[in-house]
Amino acid sequence: MRKGKPAVLVSVEGSADQGCGSRGEAEGLAGRGLQRRGSAAAWADAVFGWNVSRGWTWARMSRAHPRFDRPAPRRLVCGGRLLTLRCAAMRIDSMLADGGPVFSFEFFPPKTPAGHEALLRTIGELQPLRPGFVSVTYGAMGSNRGQVVELVDQIRNQIGIEAMAHLSCTGHTRDEIAGVLDRLAAAGLENVLALRGDPPPGQPFRPTPGGFAYASDLADFIRGRWPLCIGGAAYPEMHPDAPDADTDLANLLKKARAGANFLVTQLFFDNADYFAFVERARGLGINVPIVPGIMPMADVAQIRRIAGMCGAKIPEAMASRLSAADGDATASFEVGVEWALEQCRGLLKGGAPGVHFYTLNKSSATREILSALRSD
Ligand SMILES: Cc1cc2nc3c(=O)[nH]c(=O)nc-3n(C[C@H](O)[C@H](O)[C@H](O)COP(=O)(O)OP(=O)(O)OC[C@H]3O[C@@H](n4cnc5c(N)ncnc54)[C@H](O)[C@@H]3O)c2cc1C
Repeated sequence: MRKGKPAVLVSVEGSADQGCGSRGEAEGLAGRGLQRRGSAAAWADAVFGWNVSRGWTWARMSRAHPRFDRPAPRRLVCGGRLLTLRCAAMRIDSMLADGGPVFSFEFFPPKTPAGHEALLRTIGELQPLRPGFVSVTYGAMGSNRGQVVELVDQIRNQIGIEAMAHLSCTGHTRDEIAGVLDRLAAAGLENVLALRGDPPPGQPFRPTPGGFAYASDLADFIRGRWPLCIGGAAYPEMHPDAPDADTDLANLLKKARAGANFLVTQLFFDNADYFAFVERARGLGINVPIVPGIMPMADVAQIRRIAGMCGAKIPEAMASRLSAADGDATASFEVGVEWALEQCRGLLKGGAPGVHFYTLNKSSATREILSALRSD
């Protein structure tokens, strides 16, 4: 039982007196000096003998309580009544401050309605793995951008997993960005990843007239205007446009000072790069959590293409393992999973606050990795 925090966790859609009718309703909570909103807190108390704290999501409850081992329920029968529950929104910086590793999955918006439905099913299937949150990327130069808010809204408010929208400056004026942020806030979302975005291939980045030049400008714009937790991108092996690593890190400090509450790194394959980067960042006064980004690789061609795009080094040992499995899809998949799992174990052991998985909308590798981590 956690003392010192008010016990409000989930709201129950419907009237507040639509109670469970079980013991937690009348006794327990008041006796412990706790507040209650609706009857969900009473329900949690009645079912688990457990009181719950403000801002806790079902995902967090399930991490915290061994008896709460089911996926987050959206509808449940309690005291003979059907209750519909909504997750309380939760800021990612609060999750990270909470101590446990926070695992997250990144998806991009699919191009077709059928793809959209399939993605929602895939994300729903991840619920038993209790991800802290799911993030949805913002397409470059207008592709699928309109869907992002709708998708994060559905993930959080229908599936019941906390969600974060990516938002980039590319091709947007301030007013357009403000419109997206208004829609996020209206949907009750609390997290956004503030990005500059990439230019079209082969061209340098040019800010849109009336828009922003850097992610730090966007973070600064959001802070104070919308009550959102702001994430930012970080590059253990340096951003490709930066003249050198020190300048890139100095720019990252600007982003943290502009309001980024946490950072997620670009993918990398050698943990030493992450740990050295975190140490340098701390030395410069960047004190927000830095979540490592990991992408399980499926084959040699994929790793060369992706590493080339983002400038990540491929360790010799990884290249030779993947080469040995080349041509055998199952073996390549297993090598990719094994490497990423070793990376995750090393990262968590070394104090990383969680892992952000780049899924490329294929969840089987990340499912395998996270299942293994959960049972470590
Ligand atoms: C976790 C993660 C998620 C991503 N998701 C998406 C996505 O959904 N959609 C998408 O299009 N792209 C996405 N990207 C890619 C990202 O948009 C590109 O890497 C982009 O080139 C840089 O974005 P940024 O936010 O890091 O930019 P910035 O932080 O603005 O940095 C860009 C460059 O400008 C420099 N810089 C930064 N601030 C200053 C300053 N004040 N003065 C001078 N120089 C400065 C930096 O050193 C760097 O070289 C993602 C990247 C990561 C790591």
